[in-house]
Amino acid sequence: IHDVHIIGGGLAGSEAAWQLARRGVKVRLSEMRGTGEMTPAHQTDGLAELVCSNSFRSDDDTKNAVGLLHHEMRELDSLVMRAGHIAQVPAGSAMAVDRDVFSAEVEKALGNHPNITIVRERVDSLPAAGLTIVATGPLTAEALAASIVRATGNERLAFFDAIAPIIHRDSIDMSKCWIQSRWNKRTEASNEGGDYINCPMTQEQYLAFHKGLIEGEKSEFKQWEKDTPYFNGCMPIEVMAERGVETLRYGPMKGVGLDNPFDTSPEFPQGRWPYAVVQLRQDNKLGTLWNMVGFQTKLKYAAQVELFRTIPGLENAEFARLGGLHRNTFLNSPQVLDRQLRLRAAPHIRFAGQVTGCEGYVESAAIGLVAGMMTAAELGGRDWQPLPSTTALGALLSHITGDAEAETFQPMNVNFGLFPPLHEVGKKVRKEAYTSRAKADLARWIAATREALPA
Ligand code: FAD
Repeated sequence: IHDVHIIGGGLAGSEAAWQLARRGVKVRLSEMRGTGEMTPAHQTDGLAELVCSNSFRSDDDTKNAVGLLHHEMRELDSLVMRAGHIAQVPAGSAMAVDRDVFSAEVEKALGNHPNITIVRERVDSLPAAGLTIVATGPLTAEALAASIVRATGNERLAFFDAIAPIIHRDSIDMSKCWIQSRWNKRTEASNEGGDYINCPMTQEQYLAFHKGLIEGEKSEFKQWEKDTPYFNGCMPIEVMAERGVETLRYGPMKGVGLDNPFDTSPEFPQGRWPYAVVQLRQDNKLGTLWNMVGFQTKLKYAAQVELFRTIPGLENAEFARLGGLHRNTFLNSPQVLDRQLRLRAAPHIRFAGQVTGCEGYVESAAIGLVAGMMTAAELGGRDWQPLPSTTALGALLSHITGDAEAETFQPMNVNFGLFPPLHEVGKKVRKEAYTSRAKADLARWIAATREALPA
């Protein structure tokens, strides 16, 4: 007999189980590993296995958004942070862990908890009734994925991410680029002036850039990623470049219909069309993040930074995230989930972890933590007080449940670009300002919800 069924014993499912159990809720935690089943990335049967790096990234909670997320999770008694502390290994200002000790600590805490029953089983369809948290991760097993597709509709569950780099708006040099939509086309949602930031290139710059794409160091697809049949519609920019020197100029880098105000003449008083262009499109409602349109790429991170900073206007670009393409099962959360991570079409089901479109160990665990707290509130008949969007937890949650653009939704790490901006604060001290504001607001939120969400 259980109150809540959690499917998936990874980072998010384990954290959600802990948050529920410590509030007196009985949990059934279903994990398919341990039955002979395995995902292509996991190696063990342990709960909360780290499938790749052993790092939770920066632990600096004064200047770094993921460090701030660590702080907030610790304030909310996160199991992942607790086990991480026990398993910690030296890593400078980063938080790294011994993955076996970490997984064993998580498993011990959950296994010993009287409110948690861990069941090794694969779940093949979304339960028709009963409060449920689905936390099956980026490699959700096939039958369950098909069941999710049936509940959400086609095109709402992706099987690959195709991430174009995302840039902080305030690091773009607007003295070299301009805002305009191609052919000045407008829609109801259009911004004043146009929807795209256009970074123009001369022929010489374009040819050098094209060479850089072809020669830049790339990461390889893993064999199991090559075998996945779902791959379509997200061709890497360098593969397009390999098809011919002009391919990009007829694709995402075409300059037609864009009047470069920095290149005017009596013949072209509005501005000549550039030889080639890189377009950026707004990525979040706050307007702080912009993505490079069509620039999904397998170039290695260092190669991306080096090459993309040669684009006029992006010489000092700060990247909120770099491009990538991976096997990754994730929902179009802004469309299918409500603000409390519930499936609009079946609100007894919540989603948590990377399948909601956050990205990273810490982020996945953080969304598991929030999903657990929300479910506890719902079960107790208490209203959920929304987390302040000025906190790392609140900002990430707001992004995936509605503030991100649904049309171009791709997985996202926590970063300061998701926070309500503090333009008035000088750049040098802005990060500290974000973290101080977040800590104060989270402390107020915890004080206000203590009664509603007793531990
Ligand atoms: P998971 O930790 O994957 O947990 C999901 C669990 O659900 C798994 O245990 C799985 O066995 C189980 N499951 C799936 N389907 C079913 C089913 N039908 N029934 C029952 N159980 C099921 N992030 C980083 O921060 N750093 C990295 O280095 C990193 N490397 C990654 C490498 C790869 C190859 C991948 C795919 C992802 C990587 N990530 C990384 C991203 C992400 O942080 C991790 O995938 C993270 O584990 C996600 O947490 P989660 O809880 O959402 O999913």
